[in-house]
Amino acid sequence: QVPLKPGRSLMDWIRLTKSGKDLTGLKGRLIEVTEDELSKHNKKEDCWICIRGFVYNVTPYMEYHPGGEDELMKAAGTDGTDLFDQVHRWVNYESMLKECLVGRMAVKPIAAPKVISLACKFVKETLLEGLGLNMFLYAQRNYMFLSLLYFLFYSYDWFQTDSLVTIVIYTKQKDMNAELVIVDCQDKRLRGEIIMDDHSYLVEVDLDHAVSEDVAVNIAEKVGKVEIILSKKDNIHWKMLGQPWEGHNTFIKRTDRGLFYRKCKLVSKTEVTHDTKLFCLMLPKGTHLRVPTGQHVYLKQIIAGTEVVKPYTPVLPFLPLDFQEPPHHDGVHIYLMIKIYSRGVFTQALDHLQIGDYIFVSNPEGNFKKSQVQTSEDLLLLAGGTGFTPMVKLLNFALTEVSCLRTVKLIFFNKTEDDILWRNQLEQLALKDERFEVQFILSQPTKDWVGKQGKISSSLLSEFVKRSRRDSKVLICICGPAPFTEQGVQYLKDLGYSQEEIHAFTA
Ligand code: FAD
Ligand code: NAP
Repeated sequence: QVPLKPGRSLMDWIRLTKSGKDLTGLKGRLIEVTEDELSKHNKKEDCWICIRGFVYNVTPYMEYHPGGEDELMKAAGTDGTDLFDQVHRWVNYESMLKECLVGRMAVKPIAAPKVISLACKFVKETLLEGLGLNMFLYAQRNYMFLSLLYFLFYSYDWFQTDSLVTIVIYTKQKDMNAELVIVDCQDKRLRGEIIMDDHSYLVEVDLDHAVSEDVAVNIAEKVGKVEIILSKKDNIHWKMLGQPWEGHNTFIKRTDRGLFYRKCKLVSKTEVTHDTKLFCLMLPKGTHLRVPTGQHVYLKQIIAGTEVVKPYTPVLPFLPLDFQEPPHHDGVHIYLMIKIYSRGVFTQALDHLQIGDYIFVSNPEGNFKKSQVQTSEDLLLLAGGTGFTPMVKLLNFALTEVSCLRTVKLIFFNKTEDDILWRNQLEQLALKDERFEVQFILSQPTKDWVGKQGKISSSLLSEFVKRSRRDSKVLICICGPAPFTEQGVQYLKDLGYSQEEIHAFTA
């Protein structure tokens, strides 16, 4: 993010788009844009960008872009879809830029669907070379090809009784678990997604007949079989499962699927500190969703008629002090610890939600893998402000399920004592579990603060970030304001920690 000029906030942008001002310079007319034409609009004062076949005049948006004008200019006069997807695929640009729409690309380059192009590769490079060993070697060389193989393995089937419809998905994935299965069944639409690393398999149909709200999901972990069981509303014999949606029965990269949202109910809102609250959201009855440790979701609200999306990292309702049993997830509630900024567009709207109101919650995303911590002996967590949120589940997971773990240390940076999240719980946990230690560091303490003070620095880190033994396996996780995280990673590298030993939580 770059500092924006006064009067250039997201809210100011939304106001401008509603003002009726002609933001494209075309008086509301939509045109067909050739590649040649697009390339001519490549200056700040005349800048068009194509995203997914639609062309936008982004000149009026330049000063409002949170990432800065230079970032936007990288795509000036070109197709910026890839760049956009890399940086913030979750931002709802259709809604944000709708008043800037110039028109469609005249000849939209048609990229062959991923699966078809993979199939062509398969025929050309494998069948022609002969099957067997070649195929194996090829699969090893080419991850894309592996995804085709998985596609061939993935399949679904369905059957019915008088009262039930069961959809069975065979994944052949041996480590299948509840976090890898996301099911939504609302208003006759069934969507079942199975996650496999950065790919996913999707079953998505408009069901033939109505079903009740309750959906059961059974997972046979060892054989990788997933059953979705629906209860028929009427005892009618179904002729088919339903009409397929566009992505039905495909196995593609997760980033190539749009974000899917469901409506969740706000059931409680409790104070954590003077500016931070714990929001409890309830998933709809027909949803099966578990947010994995280290991953975030996107929340979506309509603010002044514009869809606004922001990421948040689910936490636990509290820090369990008893680490004997794996934590109990009820599978129904999602807890979010959110700081309300006095001038924050999204958090102000969130704070104004009443109990019983609804908000859209996306599928989980994030590149943290539990396996990173599963072999760690020392886990060091560096958190700045609400950068504490990914540490909550991580801490709990490490202390509960990582048997080789010797030490967990949280180094928690805040401005003042009043800003420290869950201080009491963290201190209690440190008393209860001798593997856990917490260090609070304040950047703007009052005179009474007797603890450590300062900002993230090389000297502070060299004092607190240490291996418990000279050769112990360490994982350092860091999360906070972007410059805090960037500087922290650099200091850690300067102190001799390798890239593999550091995980930075970012967007
Ligand atoms: P904004 O309108 O973005 O403003 C926030 C503050 O910054 C305001 O004071 C505003 O005036 C100022 N500001 C904004 N942009 C600029 C700018 N360009 N120049 C100068 N000042 C600016 N937050 C949590 O509280 N809990 C979480 O669990 C959480 N998880 C996250 C997970 C991820 C992966 C990421 C990337 C972020 C996460 N965040 C979390 C942050 C969250 O997504 C929002 O950024 C945050 O809630 C602020 O949103 P907002 O729209 O209210 O504020
Ligand atoms: P904050 O209260 O403003 O700051 C927390 C601590 O970080 C303070 O000690 C602060 O010190 C320090 N800090 C702030 N800016 C710094 C900088 N530029 N360089 C060095 N230290 C800095 O934090 P917050 O308002 O809670 O914000 C938390 C941030 O974490 C947000 O930006 C949010 O987006 C991010 N976050 C990311 C994720 C993720 O997964 N990626 C998850 C949750 C939160 P001083 O300000 O006194 O310098």
